[in-house]
Amino acid sequence: MEYLNKLNKEQRAAAMYTEGPLLILAGAGSGKTSTMTHRIVYMTEEKGIDPYNILAVTFTNKAAKEMKDRVETLIGHGLNSWILTFHSACLRILRSHAEVLGYGRDFAVYDPTDQKTMIKNIIKELGIDAKRYTPSYFLGIISKCKEKPITAEEYTNVYGDDIKAKTVAQVYGMYERALKKNNAMDFDDLLLNTVRLFKKDETVLLKYQNRFRYIMVDEYQDTNRMQYMFIKMLAEAHNNICVVGDDDQCIYQWRGADIRNILEFEKDFKDVKVVKLEQNYRSTSNILGAAHSVISNNRSRKSKKLWTDQDAGNKIVYYRAEDERDEAYFIASEINRMKSSDRKYNDFAILYRTNSQSRTFEEALSRREIPYRVLGGLRYYDRKEIKDITCYLRLVQNKADDLALIRIINEPKRGIGGKTLEKLRTLAAVRQESIFNTLMDREVISSFSSKISSNIESFTELINSYSSEKENLRISDIYDGLLVKSGYLKALEEQNTLEAESRIENLMEFKSVIYNYEDEDPNITLPEFMERIALLAEVDNHDAGENAVVLMTMHSAKGLEFPFVFMPGMEDGLFPGWRAFDREDGLEEERRLCYVGITRAKERLWLTSAERRTLYGKTDYTRESQFLRELDKSLIEGDAIFEKKKRDVGQGVFSDGITEGSSFKPFDQLKYARQQMKKNLEDSSDDLSAGDMVSHPKFGEGKVLSCDGKIVQISFDGDVKKLAVGFAPLKKL
Ligand code: ATP
Ligand code: MG
Repeated sequence: MEYLNKLNKEQRAAAMYTEGPLLILAGAGSGKTSTMTHRIVYMTEEKGIDPYNILAVTFTNKAAKEMKDRVETLIGHGLNSWILTFHSACLRILRSHAEVLGYGRDFAVYDPTDQKTMIKNIIKELGIDAKRYTPSYFLGIISKCKEKPITAEEYTNVYGDDIKAKTVAQVYGMYERALKKNNAMDFDDLLLNTVRLFKKDETVLLKYQNRFRYIMVDEYQDTNRMQYMFIKMLAEAHNNICVVGDDDQCIYQWRGADIRNILEFEKDFKDVKVVKLEQNYRSTSNILGAAHSVISNNRSRKSKKLWTDQDAGNKIVYYRAEDERDEAYFIASEINRMKSSDRKYNDFAILYRTNSQSRTFEEALSRREIPYRVLGGLRYYDRKEIKDITCYLRLVQNKADDLALIRIINEPKRGIGGKTLEKLRTLAAVRQESIFNTLMDREVISSFSSKISSNIESFTELINSYSSEKENLRISDIYDGLLVKSGYLKALEEQNTLEAESRIENLMEFKSVIYNYEDEDPNITLPEFMERIALLAEVDNHDAGENAVVLMTMHSAKGLEFPFVFMPGMEDGLFPGWRAFDREDGLEEERRLCYVGITRAKERLWLTSAERRTLYGKTDYTRESQFLRELDKSLIEGDAIFEKKKRDVGQGVFSDGITEGSSFKPFDQLKYARQQMKKNLEDSSDDLSAGDMVSHPKFGEGKVLSCDGKIVQISFDGDVKKLAVGFAPLKKL
């Protein structure tokens, strides 16, 4: 029970209240997440509750990992509770029961980039004016529909049947059919389908209700309708549900979060115990005061005030820069000034409103040689080469994945142009099979020139061999094989441009991603790996252990804390953003975001703005943010006077003549990695015969029993495996 002594009275009461519904409603930094963590420990260690019966849901993968790590550190051993995100929980459930809904269990998960590609194809097919209707327009509507849920068939009943609504319904319907045909789900489907599954098959629901006797949800204020349904259905049987949240931190309404879920929790469940936490342990009283002075301007909120027994601490620094470069240099030099031997770079975070702000900070920080990490923006996984190679992996996992195939069938060039591909797609549709299957038909292939048909044959052969061997191979070996044998790497090498080099660099970096997963779990399977990377939210790249300044959006910073926080771009139009004024409650949501940003800071906070700013290629004078004007001036260093009016100066374009610096590339290391990759493949020896001793990275040492052309039979400690020569990473001993 010693660990409970670290909690205060209210926190302890909440941690020990395990039966019946519990609502912990409290402000930022009051220890909500810590209480939840200790509650899991209390349940398993003191109450003897089987960890198997516990489900804890968090908002990001990173938060889930942190919570699991902390629980395991406190109890000193591993735990088989499900501590994960909504998406991961649903994905796990669907993997075991997808057939109930007519999917194969190895269904793919499509991310936003895949979704866009699909919609683009549909727009083309229907001949819709692509300038008037963008893919994001349709995807936004489809996502909202899936949150409600409204099906494509129901759409016109709900929204009327004018031409616009009919078009949306048609696109939505085709999109759904294409997903189904590819045996794929998008992110919204994961939740929607799990709820459908629970409704359709009561035994499945009962199974999970029985399993998850204790349910906890962190950041409950940001749950949407489907997440709510999911939790409600699971918890209904036993009512042991604990939700944790802060209505002041609801920042995802634009993505369907429903603040009512937390405000009406007491109505949804009977006899709810409510715990309020009022002491903040994170921030100095100046920081807390600043946060309070801003958020108290929101009208729709449950009034609450946090207190802290920490010192006032330093005042908040406000700096009005000339332009965004000056702003970035100011922040870089403040970091240099504050950085001392007992401070690491990752004690500093720059939290901005939009990803597009990051570039200037990257520039300023790298010039000062300050290490930094950008989270979000063009995600690593959104880069072309990474998308391409993951599509190869996806196809190996699931050959019905037409979308993946379309992306890579001509990458590298195999002579399949747009028209040919179109023909293939139609043919596959007529034959009601996947394009891959169509390509396996010799008759189809023979209609191509001999060069193209041989290209295609080696492509299908490549995918088939890795697909049939996938259980026997490490992911890193599959990866190497695909990259080299597909000719993808070679094609990049032949381009011999700087851009191609950086693409190769990224592809090599992907190997470290794979290695990391393999280190963590040497038996990780391809589907498991694909799931993990498909679910990587932007914030997950944040590695607190790394000694680098952290750059991210305020949205991604939810739940995190840093000693030193910078919030740049405190200008009307940027933060709060102009779009905030389009929507009812838009401004209040932006203000909550401001509250989230400020309360990330433990010791010191800097707010900055720029007098003129170039954004999306346009330079303009700015007005200081409304939130600055709302902030309690006595908490700000110096005499802050905020301009109420935008300066009456015409627009102009400013250039400062700074030339681009050349960036360092670890070229030789890269070359080495590439050579290794090819060498490993050559090592998978072709000339094996019965009696040879071999070693395999996954199965260990074994003895060759027979070798028949392409297939070799090997006994690994009596366990006989059939492996493909030239694909299995075998070393002759
Ligand atoms: P947020 O609303 O931002 O998610 P939270 O309410 O979840 O915040 P935590 O992240 O759990 O708050 O805790 C904030 C900080 O306070 C952490 O550094 C945590 O270790 C510390 N803390 C929590 N409770 C206590 C306590 N009783 N004594 C000392 N420190 C505490
Ligand atoms: Mg928290």
